Amino acid sequence: MGRIVLDKVTKSFGEVTVIPPLDLTIEDGEFTVFVGPSGCGKSTLLRLIAGLEDVSSGAIWIDGRDAASDPPSKRGLAMVFQSYALYPHMTVRKNIAFPLRMAGLDRAAQDRKVEQAAAVLNLTDYLDRRPGQLSGGQRQRVAIGRAIVREPSAFLFDEPLSNLDAALRVGMRLEISELHTRLKTTMIYVTHDQVEAMTMADKIVVLHAGHIEQVGSPLELYRAPRNLFVAGFIGSPK
Ligand code: ADP
Ligand code: MG
Repeated sequence: MGRIVLDKVTKSFGEVTVIPPLDLTIEDGEFTVFVGPSGCGKSTLLRLIAGLEDVSSGAIWIDGRDAASDPPSKRGLAMVFQSYALYPHMTVRKNIAFPLRMAGLDRAAQDRKVEQAAAVLNLTDYLDRRPGQLSGGQRQRVAIGRAIVREPSAFLFDEPLSNLDAALRVGMRLEISELHTRLKTTMIYVTHDQVEAMTMADKIVVLHAGHIEQVGSPLELYRAPRNLFVAGFIGSPK
């Protein structure tokens, strides 16, 4: 579960083509980072995969199913944004349980899943607080908790740490990497930060104006950047 294939996917907004035909395969369990400068189409690609935008042409396959036949809620994916989008009036417990409540799970099953997620994310002592009483890092953990309880086949992160200060970012980076090690679930992580890309990724996809400049492991990109754009972005010596 969690294999995602983009087959000649394009996206235009009106006359403007943001994603020219793009092919990409993300293997089950891979931690893939989309990296590239602001405006290169990272969020658009993630939104296409999530189903929050429709492709203009081409197809997205998720675990062998043509995603076009599935609305966002049926794709088995969970998205984590940079703005935490928590409900301020709800406790942490209720925020994390929200997707389970929507899915109609009974209260005991909700509590069990929330407590499991809270244990993984070190939030057990905070379940009765409201978002306003949490630090930025804790809020981001709640947002991740809300994704975990859905047991998605893939997590989609859109610059989840960009609102955090530098010290917190380092810690959260490690936490997300550990989460991946533990869950072994496909993760697609969007960032414009090359340090995040180099330290977290199994596979980096370097994007530039909507097209892929290069795909490879951090080491491959560092050792053999295909061009100056990749070299400049990855900080390698070419
Ligand atoms: P990134 O996440 O890499 O910063 P985006 O995917 O947000 O880039 O944007 C890629 C390009 O698509 C930008 O030029 C942006 O202005 C354009 N774009 C994104 N969403 C829309 C939209 N809803 N309507 C028109 N243009 C958009
Ligand atoms: Mg973006």
